[in-house]
Amino acid sequence: MSRDHRRGAAAVVEFEGVSRTYPGGVTAVRDVSLRIGRGELVAIVGPSGSGKSSMLHLMGSLDRPSAGRVLVDGHDVAGLSDREVSALRATRIGFVFQQFHLAVGVPVLDAVADGLLYAGVPWRRRRARAAAALERVGLGHRVHHRPHQLSGGERQRVAVARAVVGEPAVLLADEPTGNLDSVSGSTVLTLLRELNAAGTTVVVITHDREIADGLPRRIEMRDGRLVADTARGTRIGAPR
Ligand code: ADP
Ligand code: MG
Repeated sequence: MSRDHRRGAAAVVEFEGVSRTYPGGVTAVRDVSLRIGRGELVAIVGPSGSGKSSMLHLMGSLDRPSAGRVLVDGHDVAGLSDREVSALRATRIGFVFQQFHLAVGVPVLDAVADGLLYAGVPWRRRRARAAAALERVGLGHRVHHRPHQLSGGERQRVAVARAVVGEPAVLLADEPTGNLDSVSGSTVLTLLRELNAAGTTVVVITHDREIADGLPRRIEMRDGRLVADTARGTRIGAPR
């Protein structure tokens, strides 16, 4: 990846006037500008359909904006080739989704080690780092288990381990507790806080006010617009 595309190195994610209109005409994100700095723990909150997942796809370079500019870890995504975007995603971004996306029958150690495939890490080293990541999420005693032998909360912790094993610049979690009971959900949230305290930048997408209110910065979405950002200390337009 060429360093030429790196700007504003302090921001992990930067949106400048970003919009996304899908084929068919739905505009899911409208003129959003924001900046997420290294080491932040941010909630993106809003009702279903407000554009949160679309924002996450843009932040994670899974999608490109229809207008405006997206910078991830200082790289202008529009200036990168498909191969460079894949490399950026594989090495600098960790994803956690509501569905855990763990392959059936694959021992969790291998599932987590696979998170390092594209980083070109040798097999033995991948396994060692995967074991360390599983230890970090409190599953050091479960490395040879298969997903069906784990609870929902444990599966989501495996997904978190896989997302952070490569030490990404940012961890993007889309409704990470959406499929969990409240006890498992709070365990996963505690884990995300611990990772953040240890230095990982974390963005949590949630429709759950209570979860959002527990996080230090909240960005609020409504009908594709950013209507409030506690980092700016003001509400922006749009009544609730
Ligand atoms: P949220 O995550 O807040 O529920 P989304 O970003 O998933 O919101 O969706 C925002 C709007 O964009 C919704 O109206 C949704 O139906 C629409 N949408 C999301 N993804 C697509 C897509 N791939 N194609 C067309 N419309 C989409
Ligand atoms: Mg969503």
